Amino acid sequence: MNTYNRYPVTIVSGKGCYVWDDQNNKYLDFTSGIATCNLGHAPDGVKQALVKQLDEIWHCSNLFHIPNQNTLGKLLVEHSCFDKVFFCNSGAEANEAAIKLARKYAYDHQKSKDIITFTQSFHGRTMATLTATGQTKIQTGFSPLIPGFSYLSFNDFTALNQIKELKPAAVLLEIVQGEGGVIPANPVWLKELAKICKTEHILLIVDEIQTGIGRTGKLFAYEHYGIEPDIMTLAKGLGSGFPIGAMLAKKEVAARFQPGSHGSTFGGNPLATAAGIATMNQIIQTDILSSAKEQMDQLKEKLLELKMRHTVIKEVRGLGFLLGVEIDGEANKIVQLAIEEKLLVLTAGPHVVRILPPLTVTSDDMKLFIERFDKVLEKME
Ligand SMILES: *Cc1c(COP(=O)(O)O)cnc(C)c1O
Repeated sequence: MNTYNRYPVTIVSGKGCYVWDDQNNKYLDFTSGIATCNLGHAPDGVKQALVKQLDEIWHCSNLFHIPNQNTLGKLLVEHSCFDKVFFCNSGAEANEAAIKLARKYAYDHQKSKDIITFTQSFHGRTMATLTATGQTKIQTGFSPLIPGFSYLSFNDFTALNQIKELKPAAVLLEIVQGEGGVIPANPVWLKELAKICKTEHILLIVDEIQTGIGRTGKLFAYEHYGIEPDIMTLAKGLGSGFPIGAMLAKKEVAARFQPGSHGSTFGGNPLATAAGIATMNQIIQTDILSSAKEQMDQLKEKLLELKMRHTVIKEVRGLGFLLGVEIDGEANKIVQLAIEEKLLVLTAGPHVVRILPPLTVTSDDMKLFIERFDKVLEKME
């Protein structure tokens, strides 16, 4: 169905941070399939793991034990503050699972069932997750929405008092709002919010679907903030492009789910978890995050240099390789001009260009990006 306005490029292959179209044109891809191919396109380790798994078993359902699930679950738990993992197939499903778990927790503790999210957030396209999404453009035409959601303003200190008064079951937020315009949480605000959630026994749910799996320079973005959420959702980067989602929780929260509470036929199947294990291992067992950190600092610096020369840039913001360039004009125009320069970037709302390189970019790739982006900005003047 006609659910996407597509750019006029037909992509047929990809390797690293390059993709090729059906005319054999080569593009520098700084979208990573929307923060998904964090190790670049077709990374060797993940490819080998998938090929090996194809020879063993593809699918058997969650009615049986799946060794890959245990392995990936352990990797996620050992490298985060969480104890238990539920596997699904997408970001929306991971958030859906988080919302259900929060509701069940509230139900069992006879507390408010309300969930607070923030304006400009994005949490998915299913009924519960589009309700959680604080943007009317996502919700229009789909009411009645799910009851029990309310929206406060992100990074707003008065919202903290409202949370204290409302005492909801849970607060759900992105550490860096992605689709809503690349807006990082204010560290003072988020720390205070986490403190309120702890003292008031409100579950803190972080949607790390876009920020997780190394995107911001740490394995998970909450690590930048010195907080310990109760629930975290993952998807995009977890399978390097193979569909997989996950919802992680602390054990006392996770214990609210029992056999029959929730499920998924495909969730965490042997192929998806093979991709997840290989992706996680490549990040954990190598120095990819520290080498990416250098490139991340460089990219921000280079973008700030471009800002000095191009008045069309109003602001450069973001965390690691989740960067937003706010434009005095239409961001989509930039994306279209970039395609002419064989460069792929994204938008995040009407005025923000979103730049999402894979963690594996080299200095040469970065130089090429700046050259091409500079040309695009010149055309905007
Ligand atoms: C992409 C995204 C989602 C939805 O993920 P899908 O896999 O498209 O369902 C949810 N939350 C955030 C923050 C996202 O970036």
